[in-house]
Amino acid sequence: FPCDVIRNFSIIAHIDHGKSTLADRLLELTGTIQKKLSGKNEQVLDKLKVERERGITVKAQTASMIHKFEDRKFLLNLIDTPGHVDFAWEVSRSLAACQGALLLVDASQGVQAQSISVFHNARERGIKIIPVLNKIDLPAAQPDRIAAQIQATFGLDPSEILQISAKTGKGVEAVLEAIIQRVPPPVARADSPLKAFLFDSMYDKYRGVISLVSVQGGVLRKGDKIASCYTRKKYEITELGILHPEEVPTTSLNPGQVGYIACNMKQSSEAHIGDTLHRVGEVVEPMAGFQPAKAMVFAGVYPIENSEFPKLEESINRLTLTDRSVTVQRESSTALGQGCRLGFLGTLHMDVFRQRLEDEHDANVIITAPTVPYKIIYKDKEVIISNPTDFPDVGDLGIRVREIQEPVVKASIIVPEEYFGDMMELCYSHRAEEVEHRYLDSGTSSARIMLNCIIPLSEIVTDFFDQLKSRSSGFASFDYEDAGYRKSDLAKMTFLLNGKPVDALALIVHRSAQETVGRQWVKKLHKVIPRQLFEVPIQAAVGKKVIARETLKAMRADVTAGLYGGHYERKMKHLENQKEGKRRMKKMGTVELPQEAFFEILSNK
Ligand code: GDP
Ligand code: MG
Repeated sequence: FPCDVIRNFSIIAHIDHGKSTLADRLLELTGTIQKKLSGKNEQVLDKLKVERERGITVKAQTASMIHKFEDRKFLLNLIDTPGHVDFAWEVSRSLAACQGALLLVDASQGVQAQSISVFHNARERGIKIIPVLNKIDLPAAQPDRIAAQIQATFGLDPSEILQISAKTGKGVEAVLEAIIQRVPPPVARADSPLKAFLFDSMYDKYRGVISLVSVQGGVLRKGDKIASCYTRKKYEITELGILHPEEVPTTSLNPGQVGYIACNMKQSSEAHIGDTLHRVGEVVEPMAGFQPAKAMVFAGVYPIENSEFPKLEESINRLTLTDRSVTVQRESSTALGQGCRLGFLGTLHMDVFRQRLEDEHDANVIITAPTVPYKIIYKDKEVIISNPTDFPDVGDLGIRVREIQEPVVKASIIVPEEYFGDMMELCYSHRAEEVEHRYLDSGTSSARIMLNCIIPLSEIVTDFFDQLKSRSSGFASFDYEDAGYRKSDLAKMTFLLNGKPVDALALIVHRSAQETVGRQWVKKLHKVIPRQLFEVPIQAAVGKKVIARETLKAMRADVTAGLYGGHYERKMKHLENQKEGKRRMKKMGTVELPQEAFFEILSNK
């Protein structure tokens, strides 16, 4: 396939607007996959179990298809992109290998927050954007109105907008034509030095690291000796091919093509996303690389059974081979034992990772409350911490510590006018600043408003998204981007059982929320901690100051009272346990916080 018959494109859209469904239709229409007789949406590109279950795409997938148009065969390379704010980084990565993008908008819902962010992402890269209205089969579809909205929001000509139903297949043929006619072919020459852009990688038990590359110049062949611009390491290509959508080995990857390579790369960390590969002995200018993904949410992960830590650590390491955006560090806690501190792109990412741990590695885990990275400006240095235990004490502020800063994001919310008041309230109750808004479509009966503000990241990692959805009856959409760090009035809150702090429960809380948070957690602890043989005060404290308190009453003296008569052995055992328990309590003077209690506190927020 020479360059002029190659098209590299991706589908960008707000979540649920139909990317995966359209990808399936395109693969069917080009005969890349068999049409399902059942008519069920299989979503071929969503490979992971969690993706199928949640209906979201987590990892971008790539597929090549061949389509005949006006008697010429075209090679169309589709790069599917994930559709959630947490994975914006994956979207930019996919776009770097494309010359065009289908901007898919649901004809019943209209432009949503991520439609806008992905549009700007594509526009900044100078990619050809083809607007597509999807779901026109729905009775609630308003194609004309949404087309006007697309024109007003993106400045795209309404005559360029395609109208389709990815579900029924209506209009999808025209999408293929538009890709061929409107997306420019890649510019790459066979006779220039080899240059391949590495935009994704995965791990295979047998072959090691498999990298996805887009060939920007030269021809890549099996047996080629290549080197990385980034690590300077050398490799030999053992296998290469295209994704059709399964791997199909070929003898070469030509200029402009997208495909996979295996090259005796043993460690995932060697495959640097954004790297440029070249032939050993040749000099090339590396392509502008990527900022590495930045972990924004951290949490401790512990096994339910302490003895299972080695197994858990191995599972985590294996999973991070396929998901490179997770960062891992060992940590230990007096209450939970040995564990790992993981960094994620967002809370959904964290949830997905936990589910994959449970699904694919059979691991039962406790995950501590998520925390964002804080910047501590000491008199002589600046540090970023990702664990509340490392947060300085209140007493240090103004003495050793000059200032504390927290990460903030630029958030945008799109919502029908009638929910505007609720959204403003939601933002202000989450410490939003610089709140501003504008109308997206004026003059219509149910106009939609875009609200922008600066909001602390810590405020959106907990319940913000759920509240946004429930307070807007599901109509609000939300997106955010990094906006740096800002000074903030934060302090570490510790929880004490019988006067002893429980390290795994420490939280960083803004001054304005101390009382609410303290009271809420103390109540929760009170509910889940089993009664002890003595009275146990449960306290929330900031520094030496107690913010909230509950008292757990002592257990009744005779533990056997509740058991039916007759079970002599059981009774004896209980009495023995009680004796043993008393001895241990006296020795340690502490309250054991059972793992199940942790599990309950940390899981049902
Ligand atoms: P993604 O999140 O963008 O990948 O969206 P999906 O492809 O998973 O689609 C989200 C939901 O919309 C699924 O339930 C699809 O069956 C449905 N859907 C997708 N395209 C159409 C369409 O053209 N018409 C209708 N009625 N439903 C569609
Ligand atoms: Mg999808």
